[in-house]
This record gives sequence, structure tokens and C-alpha cells, in this order.
Amino acid sequence: MNAQTSTPAFDVQRVRADFPLLARTVHGKPLVYFDNANTSQKPRQVIEAVDRHYREHNANVSRAVHLLGEEATAAYEGARDALARFINAPSRDELVLTSGTTQSANLVAYSFALPRLQPGDAILTTTMEHHANIVPWQIVAARAGATVQAAPISASGELIVEEFVKRLTPEVKLACVGHVSNVLGTVNPVRELAKECRRRGIPLFVDGSQAVPHRPVDVQALGCDFYALTGHKMLAPTGTGALWARKEHLDAMPPFFGGGEMIREVKFSGTTFAEPPHRFEAGTPNIAGFAGVSAAIAYYESLGFDAIRDHERALLDHATARLREVLGLRIVGEAAEKEPVISFLIEGAQATDLATLLDLEGVAVRSGHHCAHPLMQFYGVPATLRASLAFYNTHEEVDAFVAALLKVRRLLR
Ligand code: PMP
Repeated sequence: MNAQTSTPAFDVQRVRADFPLLARTVHGKPLVYFDNANTSQKPRQVIEAVDRHYREHNANVSRAVHLLGEEATAAYEGARDALARFINAPSRDELVLTSGTTQSANLVAYSFALPRLQPGDAILTTTMEHHANIVPWQIVAARAGATVQAAPISASGELIVEEFVKRLTPEVKLACVGHVSNVLGTVNPVRELAKECRRRGIPLFVDGSQAVPHRPVDVQALGCDFYALTGHKMLAPTGTGALWARKEHLDAMPPFFGGGEMIREVKFSGTTFAEPPHRFEAGTPNIAGFAGVSAAIAYYESLGFDAIRDHERALLDHATARLREVLGLRIVGEAAEKEPVISFLIEGAQATDLATLLDLEGVAVRSGHHCAHPLMQFYGVPATLRASLAFYNTHEEVDAFVAALLKVRRLLR
């Protein structure tokens, strides 16, 4: 086995054996799955947890006194414990279980931001954000007569911190930043931004969707007010996610969705609501999905982020070096601190044509705007190609991807 792909701490082949889908072929070619920023593949431990839930424990949460109901509730609440541990939340009650970052951001927008916004106020975000960290703010800002402003980034794809700080004016009622860019891989200096926000009394929302699959997150050390994550990018099923928020914020937030599970008492003369986090969890959640979340977190914990990061860093360095050898290829986003996400353009070839041809070679990459129109506008391009790697990828896959890229580019000439 290639020494680069196997270290005593991290045996990538053993890890890959846990991911059934990685063994399949696509168009007759071995799959090279480099679309991990879009959604990750799932280890058998997660698949089995979901399967076990439906085979052995399926019932609704909280409403039943029977044993299955208790087991389903334990699975659901167990995920809250696992998530709290995963991001070092001070209390499990500060974790609202959601369907993903999109729901988490909308909850903050409607329940936290909207009641605080006055005409003339602003929400500050950055040019590199995913639409999920722009559009919810625009919708509530428009309702309140407020605006959404964007802090600029540099050509290398780094947030210009002084410009962000300069925009933290008294009109700003909420600041919102991605921990890691889904397009550029840039890691934003959240701890430093949180300190600046705190000094001015401005709450900070962090979109952690692309950070939690790659690095240990400690919300207390970061010092932010809100941290959103999405399960399906971190080995867990789709339709799972969480919002961590400081207790004082959750206590002050009115419910966003109404229905079962989120009330204390319902009367036509007036309904009282449950305490957080249940106040924000109306209806039947994705219970089996959350059983998968616990399994996903256990999987990360069994590998350890030190080993994951060493391997991913080596992969990123290798992929970056190999892509730099490709004539006419430009990497978009060259921040000093990056997670293994590489956007790029190739002179004379459309990103979508390249991605379509790469698929025929078994290589799954994403082409398009990556739900980041303002970032595309900044770079003056309609789309990029994006290779996003995970700890179960290998150096050999990077080489196969580059070989396929050279082949399909020749076809387009
Ligand atoms: N933020 C970022 C940075 C993302 O990459 C994504 C998913 N592409 C989201 C938010 C939205 O996540 P979800 O669709 O799971 O809610």
C-alpha cells in the first residue's frame, strides 16, 4: 500500500471499508467521490443505526408511555447529548434539533432577528456566504425595513477582518459568518470575529455546516452566540441538523413553528409554550435520522480529529499541487487556512461540461454557483468546478481525478 495513504494513526483503506457506497462503480469506472461538501457518504455504522431504529425501536417521541416510545425518545434525546458533546455546548438544553442549517438559520432569522430589527437596522454577513446564510436575513430584514450588508473578501478568498469590524456599527443587530466556505474552503477567524462582536454587544451567528466534518468545534472557545450545523455533511442522514444558541437567547426567542411537542398548555384563550429547546421542535422529528447522528458522531470520535486532519491536510496539499500542474487551471480561493475544498476554473472549458465528462470517468465533482451567487459575482464567473474531499478519500483518487481532468479537457478542445 502506498505509504502516503496509510499511517499508523489512520488506515484509510480500513476506513473506506466502512463506506459501502465507495465500492461502487459509476459508468463502469471506480467511483471517485469528490462532492463531499455537498453531502458526505455514510458509514455502515450510521446506515445500521437507522436500520436498527426502524426494525427494533420505531415509535414516536415523547408522546408514548410504552417501551418503544421510550426507546425512540432515548434515541432522539441521545443525539442531543452527542451533539452537545461534539461541539462542547455548555448544556444539552442549548441544542435545538432541526432539519439542517437552513432551518437553523431561518429559526434565528424569524425568532431572534426579526423581533429585534427596526427600520434602518442591519444584519452583517460576508461576500463568501452560502445562500442559507444570506437569504433568511434578507427576508426578515425586508419585513422590518432593515438591510443586509456584506463584508468584503480579498482576491485570495479571505475575509478582510478590518472591513468586517468596520461594519460592526450600532445599527447592526446580528452578524453572520460561515466557519468554513463551501466554495473556497477558507476557514474564517471566528474566535477573533466573535471577540469583536462581543465587544460591541452584537450577537454572532456562525454557519458551521462545512466546519464540523473536518475540525473539532468548541462553541465555548469560539465565543459565538449561535452555531448551526447540518447532519448530512457529517456522515449522518439527510434532514438532520442542529442549532446551538446561548441559553439567554433561546429563553428570549418566541416559537417559530407551532404545533405538537412545543407547548405547555393549549387553550383557545391562549397557549403557553414549552421551555427551550422543545419550544422550537414542533411536530414529529426525523427520529431515525437522529439515531444516525449519534452513530456519525461516535464514528468521528473513534477516528479522532487529529488523524482526520492530518490525512485531509495531506490530501489537500497533494490535490492542490497536482492541480497547479494543469496548464490553464486557476484555483479560486487560496486562503492560508483552508479545509479540503478546491474550486477551480480551466481556461477555454465550461465548468459544467467538464463536470459532465468527469462523471463519465467515474469522478463526482460539483459544478455551478454552489449556492453562493454573491461570491461568483465577486470573482466575475457564473460557475466553478469544485472538488471537495473527505477523510475517506485517497491520494490515488486525487491522481485518478487529475488524470480524468486532463483527458476530458483534451476532449473539449
Ligand atoms: N451553509 C453552507 C456553508 C452549506 O454548504 C450548506 C449546504 N450546501 C448549507 C448552509 C445548507 O445546508 P442544508 O441544505 O443542509 O440546510
